[in-house]
Parts: sequence; structure tokens; C-alpha cells
Amino acid sequence: MFVSSAASWQSQGSILHADLDAFFASVEQRDDPDLRGRPVIVGGGIAMAASYEAKACGVRAAMPERIWRSLCPDAIVVPPRLSAYSQASKDVFAVLRDITAVVEPLSIDEAFLDVSGLRRSYTSPQEVAAVIRSEVRAVVGLPISVGVARTKFLAKIASAHCKPDGLLVVPADEAGFLHPLPIERLWGVGKVTAEKLRSRGIRTVGQLAALDERTLTHALGPAAGRHLHAVANLRDPRPVHTGHRRRSIGSQSAFGARPRSESEIDDILTRLVDRVTHRLRDADLRARTVTVRLRWADFSRATRSRTLASATDSTAPILAATRSLMYDVWGQAVDRGLTLVGVTLSGLDPRGSEQLLLPLDDVRRDQTRAELEQAVDDVRQRFGTTALTRARMLDQDVGTQTPVLPISEP
Ligand SMILES: [Mg+2]
Repeated sequence: MFVSSAASWQSQGSILHADLDAFFASVEQRDDPDLRGRPVIVGGGIAMAASYEAKACGVRAAMPERIWRSLCPDAIVVPPRLSAYSQASKDVFAVLRDITAVVEPLSIDEAFLDVSGLRRSYTSPQEVAAVIRSEVRAVVGLPISVGVARTKFLAKIASAHCKPDGLLVVPADEAGFLHPLPIERLWGVGKVTAEKLRSRGIRTVGQLAALDERTLTHALGPAAGRHLHAVANLRDPRPVHTGHRRRSIGSQSAFGARPRSESEIDDILTRLVDRVTHRLRDADLRARTVTVRLRWADFSRATRSRTLASATDSTAPILAATRSLMYDVWGQAVDRGLTLVGVTLSGLDPRGSEQLLLPLDDVRRDQTRAELEQAVDDVRQRFGTTALTRARMLDQDVGTQTPVLPISEP
């Protein structure tokens, strides 16, 4: 599907879903030319993966041998080579991260990308998608399909729609694209849900969208009903990074205008960051943007913000970003009389989309730190926020003259 590139950054969404095609089977076909163009099933017994030639006979991943043998008697069965798939996945993610830092792995072979920051380098999101496809093909030797849309949900449906080896930009008329599709295409509609809906005569997403939410929650339960009602009506339940419907978590500390040293101000900042990152982890969110808000004794204000290379729920990188934002106002903070400091996290995104990541070393290190921070949160939950504090703050009176007020969220 082609969209003229002139107005493309305005007319196209900038969320991409990139998904390798028949991943394990494609790696086998890449590494053994004899397998190319032929029906390949990875794993005897239950099929772990099937090449498109095998899928054409009706074979699907997770099918038992008795069934796939009958559907595709000529299939070539190969044993799985997990380390080869793991390496291929790392290679693909390296290509994606070369193009943009905003990559969210969804599993070993698929990821969301937010390419809105690439306006100066590409003529359109569609061009970014085309470059991803050609780079993955050239560097890793694998076919990858890419969907482009305004929301993660639509991007994921688009990549599935254009498989194999495709590229699809969801048109501005999103309902025109989504509503004719069968309900099974919706992310979250499994076999059981599909049967329940079909038994009520609901076959297309459009028919689903026309039902009122109460009917759906009655038929499918509250969570599934609300979810499907929202997505069928083009409301993505997951926050996207493009700016609409962004939420934030913030805290601020107001205090008297008496002069304060840099280290006192740094202690206030540290406490604020500890508090907001704790709330972030409690809400199972990660943040991408850190904003520091300042008020001076004359009531003038200043705001500075910084977007991190990737979303995090970890205290250390958020504290580092906060300090770097304060760096060029330290002098003023001491001289002009700082009377309020606030730290706000935004660009929030549910935690968990990275849990299927391969065990890369830096992920392990992040996990260790995450576990440590979780332990700290747990202790504070049980014994109060002053039960554990940073060693450098031990000699200080924590918190009495600097009440920390929550900032309400929009
Ligand atoms: Mg895939």
C-alpha cells in the first residue's frame, strides 16, 4: 500500500511492528539451501514452527505430528537449533537498534518501534519500514514483515495482514481497514473467544465494534469485553509514545527560600527520584522522559526535560538524567533561592513487554538491579519509607522540613 511521501510524517502513524516471518523455519531455510522453497517443519512431534510452504498446506505451529503429517506428508522435519535462532534474534535486534533506540522487544522475533524521532532522516515512517526490511534481509538474511500505524495495536494487525515478507501502512481510514477483518485477527481473540462471538453471529471486527460494551462484557467477562470493545473501536488500551494520552508520575518538594547548598538540593532531588521511581515500579510502568520543574524565590519558574534512550523503571538512570538537568542551574539554585523542585516522569509504558528478551548480559545486569530495587520497595512497603535510606543521607533529618507532595496526574 503506497502513500505519497510529501505529507507522510503527518498522515502516517509512526509506530512500527516488525515481525520475522516463520522465524525458526526461515533460519533453517537460510542456512540450508536445500530447504528453500520446500515445506519445512521445525521439531518432530509438536511442530515448533512451519515454513510458509508448510503453512500453505494448513500446518500451524503447535500442531501435533498426527495432524501435520496428514496435512503435509512431504514436509521435511528438522531438529530445532535454539542457539542459531538466538543468534539470529540478536542480529535482528542489533539492526533495529541501529535505526532507532526506541525498540521494544515483544518476543524473540518481534518488536515495536517508535520512529517519530526520525523525521529528519527519512521521508516517511513507510520509508523507515522499507529500510528495516532491506537491512534485515541484507545483514541477517531473513524476511521480516512490518506494519505501520498510529497505535501498537493496529501496527501489529498490519504486520500480520501483510505477511509473508510484506509492508503495510494502515491508511488514514483506520475503521475502513480494521472493520472488514475477521475477529480472529484481533490481538487477544483466541479460539474460545472467537467461538463465543461466532455463535452470536459476530464474524467481523466491524460487527464487534457495533456491539455495546455491556453486551460484550456480559458475553466475555469484564476484562476481555472492555479490551475488545476498545480496540474494535480503535482505542488502543496500551499507551503509545507519540504523545496523545500521555500520563505522568510526579512529585514535588516546596521549601523556604533560605540559601541551600548544592548537596542539600541534590538530596532533595534524590528523595524525589526515589519516590517517583518507587511509584513507577508499583504501577508496573517504565518511563521515557524525565522533567524537572523549579520555582525561584521571586515565583518565576523553569522547566527542563530529557528523554532517555529507552524506557526504564530503574532509579539510577532517572537520577542521572535528573542531575544532568540540574547541572546548569546549580549556581542559580544557590543564588536565586530555589523554593520548589519537582520531578515528573512521562512517556509511560507498561512494563513486561521485554520479558521474553533473550538472556543478553546487559539484561541480566538490569534484572539484578531491578531485583535490588524491588527489594528496597518491599522493605519500605512493610516498614515505612525511612526504613531504608541511602548511606549518604543517614546523618540527615529526612523529610520533615521538605514535605513531598504528589502532583496530580492529568
Ligand atoms: Mg513472527
